[in-house]
Amino acid sequence: MGAQIIDGKAFAAQVREKVAGHVAHLRQAHGVTPGLAVVLVGEDPASQVYVRSKGKQTVETGMNSYEHRLDASTGEAELLALIEQLNSDRDVHGILVQLPLPAHLNEDLVINAIAPEKDVDGFHISNVGRLATGQKAMVPCTPLGCLMMLREHHGSLSGMNAVVVGRSNIVGKPMAQLLLRDSCTVTIAHSRTKEIEEVTRRADIVVAAVGRPEMVTGDWIRPGATVIDVGINRVDAPEKGTNEDGSVKTRLVGDCHFESCAEVAGAITPVPGGVGPMTIACLLANTVTACCRMHGLAEPE
Ligand code: NDP
Repeated sequence: MGAQIIDGKAFAAQVREKVAGHVAHLRQAHGVTPGLAVVLVGEDPASQVYVRSKGKQTVETGMNSYEHRLDASTGEAELLALIEQLNSDRDVHGILVQLPLPAHLNEDLVINAIAPEKDVDGFHISNVGRLATGQKAMVPCTPLGCLMMLREHHGSLSGMNAVVVGRSNIVGKPMAQLLLRDSCTVTIAHSRTKEIEEVTRRADIVVAAVGRPEMVTGDWIRPGATVIDVGINRVDAPEKGTNEDGSVKTRLVGDCHFESCAEVAGAITPVPGGVGPMTIACLLANTVTACCRMHGLAEPE
């Protein structure tokens, strides 16, 4: 293996430490404690894990965490009323509605009901437009975490060829906007891209956000390129044996085939321990930023 491993877990710990420092300062110097409200509708197991983890880390950095768990059958009007209440609550600086929502709820409508300045996920149409037009925005946490790791590794990204595989609103598109803002030459690849391996092989930076286990293999990567693997996929791991109920044990893999990519790449993020921890760290950082903006205080860098 030739690639340097980009340790997202360690970097995220540093980001959280900085966040905790800002929170302590806000409290001592200004009497303000940032607060993050997380809304979970239904019982999706993965979402429950994420929400628990977000709440725990929010409290660990000294912020207030407000969790709102609603029944899967919650109607749109009830959810919108809760968001309205959180929008006007002065103790709440960030609001996150955990996605995906149950199918009967209109995600766009719900997300766009959040006050843009409290939209710490950066999914509100106004924040999307602001990012695209170079205005001050709340930036989506996963691509922000990827960008921070790339900047940490490379310093300036100016002039680099970056290929983002995936064009979702939550990862691919904002990732491309952020790389463009940092003066990369950006290509977005997706399921209709022709000869996709040719496209990724031209890249200095490949960001994979596809949702297909280990799709990107070493022969897609230019020697020395940096690979950021956003994917989180649970696959069967029969080599680990079976659970008590007889089901096969599982393991997490990324959208990149780690071993073959690491042979060729200059640097790569692992799964788990890469992009995942950075996502939550960026959510905490966004909450502090939202709090500072709301109170007219200097923002952390
Ligand atoms: P989506 O399903 O919304 O988007 C997937 C994208 O991949 C689409 O644009 C799709 O193209 C493209 N795609 C699918 N198949 C192929 C293919 N064969 N070749 C090229 N492109 C393809 O996924 P998300 O963006 O929400 O998530 C992507 C991955 O990132 C998932 O594994 C998810 O679990 C993970 N994730 C991780 C997070 C973290 O914190 N680390 C946070 C969010 C997501 P098309 O548009 O043409 O259909």
